[in-house]
Amino acid sequence: MPIATVNPATGETLRTYEALGPEAVERCLADAEAAFRAYRTTGFAERAELLNRAAALLEEDQEDIARTMTTEMGKPLVAARAEAAKCAKAMRWYAANAESLLADEYPADSDVRDSGASKARAHYRPMGVILAVMPWNFPLWQVVRFAAPALMAGNVGLLKHASNVPQTALYLGELFHRAGYPRGCFQTLLIGSGDVETVLRDPRVAAATLTGSEPAGRAVASVAGDEVKKTVLELGGSDPYVVMPSADIPKAAKTAVTARVQNNGQSCIAAKRFIVHTDVYDEFAERFTAGMAGLAVGDPLLSSTDVGPLATEQGRGDVEALVDDALRKGATVLCGGRRPPEQPRGWFYEPTVLTDVGPAMRIDQEEAFGPVATLYRVASLDEAVDRANHTPFGLSSNVWTRDDTEIARFVRDLQAGGIFFNGMTASHPAFPFGGVKRSGYGRELSGHGIREFCNVTTVWHG
Ligand code: NDP
Repeated sequence: MPIATVNPATGETLRTYEALGPEAVERCLADAEAAFRAYRTTGFAERAELLNRAAALLEEDQEDIARTMTTEMGKPLVAARAEAAKCAKAMRWYAANAESLLADEYPADSDVRDSGASKARAHYRPMGVILAVMPWNFPLWQVVRFAAPALMAGNVGLLKHASNVPQTALYLGELFHRAGYPRGCFQTLLIGSGDVETVLRDPRVAAATLTGSEPAGRAVASVAGDEVKKTVLELGGSDPYVVMPSADIPKAAKTAVTARVQNNGQSCIAAKRFIVHTDVYDEFAERFTAGMAGLAVGDPLLSSTDVGPLATEQGRGDVEALVDDALRKGATVLCGGRRPPEQPRGWFYEPTVLTDVGPAMRIDQEEAFGPVATLYRVASLDEAVDRANHTPFGLSSNVWTRDDTEIARFVRDLQAGGIFFNGMTASHPAFPFGGVKRSGYGRELSGHGIREFCNVTTVWHG
């Protein structure tokens, strides 16, 4: 993929960039290594000051960077502004909390004595240069979610961003520079995915984190495994959204629409499979379909727009192929299922609801990365749990019920990194974020996220 800004609302190529050559990449690696040597010795207060300054700058830049994101990948401007604000909040959260999250841990006195020690503790130290391979769907947030904890832990970052968001990628490098971070602490590497292996194999790189597709995750994890370097992977998801009879159906249906089409349907934690108990299926299906059909699809810069274009032509092609495959094999379309005729330019796709989805259809098992929902009818709690788990993914999940016995059952049995009851999945700096099965491994955010790229060191005194 060329490194370029192509406006998905128009298909127009706005800017193209040359990838960095080997010498420039070498300079970045050398700068990163040198930066880490000094930065690792800084204290939490100094790191917090830098990160808070970056947060303040980001808040000042909110409007400009929001427009850049919308122009590069098509998310509604309102959502882009919210994304920038969320990033500043996460930066401040880690600036305020990193020290306590990484405080030394002390075993029980009896265990210390049992080991023959006079005293002992577990101490967190930064790992070094971390390579972040990031996607375009939340082009600021995905990066900040990595960078804020990594920098607070004393690591330094190298960002290989998605090739279709180069302006946002460059902005991030400049943001940390303007905030006063020493040279080399956070750098944007404009390189294609083909150059990732060389960087990852470089001995100066300690570990990697990747958010994106399963093939990209597998490629990066294979190389990292070969080099015995740690990885955190946050890959796709096909989150279930289960609605049981005790739920507030109007609220569940309204939230379902937002949960499906947020970010034009291109979110790993979007609800994608709607699994509804037969007692409330008809009411839910009617309300949900009406909500999806009533969304305003159009120019993402307009505040009246609910759903903008898909980020790339390829992305829309992938969604179309999934829907067409399902329709050919007998699925029923309740709304959408085509490009909006009133949007002939750009990569728009109508919010779509499919039902009568069967196991032979690709969409039954694959992630629909666009505004396409599948609707399943189930007759019991057991069937709801089975259907929810019937996917190779396990990122998050949503369940609507007011029944405590059902809640306990879902908490015990849903195969996912998160379970959100009576609301939609959303990330927050204080809560761990990540998946199981093909959705990846490791956690971001919270104390779990900041500790992923730390060397937990046992300090023992005889
Ligand atoms: P990719 O996974 O291809 O891209 C994500 C990042 O990985 C980009 O920086 C990309 O670089 C890089 N990358 C891709 N292949 C490799 C590789 N072999 N080695 C190293 N780095 C690599 O996402 P796409 O944009 O192609 O989207 C495809 C699908 O991925 C979507 O339909 C969706 O299912 C899933 N996805 C999931 C996301 C999530 O949030 N979990 C986010 C985005 C996509 P480059 O851009 O240069 O190719």
